[in-house]
Amino acid sequence: MTEENNELSSRRLLKRLRAIMSSDEAEQAQLDAIVEAVANEMHVDVCSFYCLLPGDILELYASFGLHNAAIHETRLRLGEGLIGEIAIQKKSQSFADAWNHPSFVFKPETKEDPFSSLMGVPVLRGTRLIGVLAVQTRDYHDYGEDEIELLETVAMVLAQMFVTEHTTGRRKSLSAIESNSRMDGVRLVPGVALGKVYLHKRTEPVAQVVSKNDAIEIRRLDMALEQMSKAVNEMLAQPDLIGENEEIFDTYRMFIHDKGWIAKIKESIHAGLTASAAVQKVADEISARMNIISDPYLKERVHDFQDLADRLQQYLAGKDVKEKNKQLPNATILVARSMGPAELLDYDRSKIKALLFEEGSPTMHVVIVAKSLNIPVIGGLQGLLDRVHQGDTVAVDSDNSCVYVNPPADLLSSVRKKIDTAERLRKQYGKLANVPCQTKDGIAVSLNVNAGLATDLLSLSEGFADGIGLYRTELPFLSAAQLPDVAKQERIYKRALANAKGKKVIFRTLDIGSDKVLPYVQRKAETNPAMGWRSIRISLDRRSLLRGQLRAFIYAVGGGDLYVMFPMIADVDEFIAAKKTLEIELQREKEKGRKLPAHVYVGTMLEVPSLLFQLEELLPLVDFVSIGTNDLVQFLFAIDRSDASLWERYDNLSPALIRVLKHVADRCAYYKVPCSVCGEMANQPLDAMVLIALGYTSLSMNAASLGRVKAMILSMDAQEVAEYLNFILSTRTHSLREQLRHFAYDHHIVI
Ligand code: PEP
Ligand code: MG
Repeated sequence: MTEENNELSSRRLLKRLRAIMSSDEAEQAQLDAIVEAVANEMHVDVCSFYCLLPGDILELYASFGLHNAAIHETRLRLGEGLIGEIAIQKKSQSFADAWNHPSFVFKPETKEDPFSSLMGVPVLRGTRLIGVLAVQTRDYHDYGEDEIELLETVAMVLAQMFVTEHTTGRRKSLSAIESNSRMDGVRLVPGVALGKVYLHKRTEPVAQVVSKNDAIEIRRLDMALEQMSKAVNEMLAQPDLIGENEEIFDTYRMFIHDKGWIAKIKESIHAGLTASAAVQKVADEISARMNIISDPYLKERVHDFQDLADRLQQYLAGKDVKEKNKQLPNATILVARSMGPAELLDYDRSKIKALLFEEGSPTMHVVIVAKSLNIPVIGGLQGLLDRVHQGDTVAVDSDNSCVYVNPPADLLSSVRKKIDTAERLRKQYGKLANVPCQTKDGIAVSLNVNAGLATDLLSLSEGFADGIGLYRTELPFLSAAQLPDVAKQERIYKRALANAKGKKVIFRTLDIGSDKVLPYVQRKAETNPAMGWRSIRISLDRRSLLRGQLRAFIYAVGGGDLYVMFPMIADVDEFIAAKKTLEIELQREKEKGRKLPAHVYVGTMLEVPSLLFQLEELLPLVDFVSIGTNDLVQFLFAIDRSDASLWERYDNLSPALIRVLKHVADRCAYYKVPCSVCGEMANQPLDAMVLIALGYTSLSMNAASLGRVKAMILSMDAQEVAEYLNFILSTRTHSLREQLRHFAYDHHIVI
């Protein structure tokens, strides 16, 4: 179509729309006429309008081309299917081969089988989403800019219909169901789950307060304390679970043996209280004292302490903590105000599908443990305990931070579908374990995991990862009350090496500061902590901290290979100083006659842009480079990585970042320095495709992404992608994502 024809067609269509909208027809008739006019004028087979209803449901409101029976029947959730994706991203998108897109969801009642391509645009009033307008064609069709623009213009006109409260009847009736069932909270661990509520109850109020015989009460207390310590010690001896999380359970260890606490309870018994009442009184006093402390570390410990006191109460009441497992439904959604990590471990974990809390923050210990067990968690659900009852059906959509209590049937089936899809993909990817990881044109790619919690490491055995490409050492430091000494660190690193079963582990020295604040490392308030006293800056200023950590690495590897990586290097001199510190430690250990590592490899993270201009000085000095795209993007685009409202603003597949990555890959190849990427970018199949085409043959990512990235690698031809990328890299555009996505579809690359 020529530009002139385009303009003509656009003007004709808008004139027709205005006529329809100013007619006296009912709303439905107007919508039907609009979609028909669009389909005719744009020469497409289908035009549909999906309206956003309360509860984040997109309902097929009008369609020309789809089956009539589907209108007001077909529903999608935000983020479900291609339409849901367009809605959630509020961004126009087109798909030449919609059926082969991994997000495509087929709704049989629409009878959309014959239509191959799809283009959709969000219908917006300001920033508020009203719905999605979409067109489809039978043939594969690459929609051009002019077609997208035309549909966007129609969407603007359509949005005017919704200035006033529209389609009131249906919207209201749905809203009633939704508002009854939906609750919003804070996503603490992502995921989707369906199950029955099990209310996690703390102990009943103490029935008898005044004691008749304090000697008997003291005996009861001693017995309960003994039973409790035995049970807690058994629980803490589960190496697969506790692993590097062992610091999390420090409060438990501390209080079981704390003489002061026990003495106080005994004092209260001597003063005339029963053992149960005495435990309650002392626990309340200690919790109240801990609660007024402003130190966030101690505040978080209150949950752990309360749990311990509750346990003691249960033993005093003669109840077996494990008994509750017998009553658990097979798919349990555990509901509580809050809980300590050990309480979660009391339950049969195979039955727990999700955790819901009235309180909750990401640093809560139970959340850290749930994350390592892959259990979705939503916190901040105010009034939850008043809303739900034992046995209620609950759909948990932690990805969207919401919960549906006793949801309507269509919602249930949509959540079920989401769970099934995730499960199907997991099984599909599982089959790729132990298949050599190489592109179709034979480029071998090394996949590694970013680790920091025990279960991250376990996935190494699944045949996907060659090692740990980034071991974030700060996590055990974050959960401890004080700096772990060298012996403790050595134990933690040894465990990481043992779990890696001889595979390579790259230890990154402490990257604290910014969002990872250690309570015991003094720091002044900073206006800009991401650019403040953090990471290698702390390590170099507090040299004993760095030296202790390096020594612990050396001891942990024994005679094996040692890989050390320094974070946030902004100046080559910092790398030289850090490396020198390692050399001094190695020399000292040698003089002491201790076993030294067989080989030592020293690398740097590249995450501060200044280093890009020092590559010629840096590369001859390093054994390897790992690009931290999370921080690199933050500093390159001056975009705060912790501010979710900015995430969409710039894209990792922008020509700017790709050019930077290409430059680094080329210089590393010249100096023959191995270079990998360990930021979040490596987790996304499409982004990983680009990295491989740029020459990165080693990627490190979250364990959960290994399967999908491997599936992508097996289906790509690196040379073909590289040629295409070279061809489009000079485009002046915000992002190359769309072009690359199309390329991937056209070349059957699984993204
Ligand atoms: C990064 O910055 O990309 C990175 C991997 O390190 P972290 O996320 O720990 O800052
Ligand atoms: Mg970083």
